[in-house]
Amino acid sequence: MTGPIIAIDGPAGAGKSTVGRAVAERLGVGYLDTGAMYRAVTFAVLQRGIDPRDESAVLEVAGSVEMTVGEERVVVDGVDATGEIRGREVTSSVSFVAANPGVRSLLVEAQRAWVANRGGGVVEGRDIGTVVFPDADLKLFVTASPRVRAERRVAEAGGDVDEMEASIIERDRLDSTRATSPLAVDPAAVTLDTSDLGIHEVVAAVVAEVEARSVGGGR
Ligand code: C5P
Repeated sequence: MTGPIIAIDGPAGAGKSTVGRAVAERLGVGYLDTGAMYRAVTFAVLQRGIDPRDESAVLEVAGSVEMTVGEERVVVDGVDATGEIRGREVTSSVSFVAANPGVRSLLVEAQRAWVANRGGGVVEGRDIGTVVFPDADLKLFVTASPRVRAERRVAEAGGDVDEMEASIIERDRLDSTRATSPLAVDPAAVTLDTSDLGIHEVVAAVVAEVEARSVGGGR
């Protein structure tokens, strides 16, 4: 059975996961958070005391780590790392791991296999519409101002808004300027700025887009 492939890209904290999960549920298809995969590799790198900038050592970890990135839990080398992959340590190192071309090709291969096994799904990340699934049925670029993104993260996890905004701007900069698969808007993507929209409005807009393209009922 084949279903639609929906690619959701955008910067950190724009609401991609909330939108992605809700759309997948609405369509009755699987949801894959590829950021969690880069975070899981970063967690393993830090656990092993490796410098996230050491390209060959990091690639070795990516090739040998056992990880399960599920919709609810992320397990890395037998350890439940669901909470830790969202922590400050992993967050401040993940852009270096994600800039590693060898790591990217391993994870992109795993992402394509995930979709092939299910015949479709909602996949979220930075390069999904541009690199991983250039033929996706629907491409979305979900964004919001750095200030709004920082405020949302702080409301969820606590912390200082100015500090969070600075960290989000720095991660955007690293993700947009790296040599391999930088964060970029695909020309075919529909851009959704969620700064002034509530989650229900965003999901409604996406579902309307899916229905307009008739990608909800399979290909
Ligand atoms: O989406 P999330 O913020 O959890 O992603 C964490 C990091 O993983 C991003 O800052 C980016 O460096 C990297 N990433 C990526 N490509 C993807 C998904 C995430 O480079 N497809």
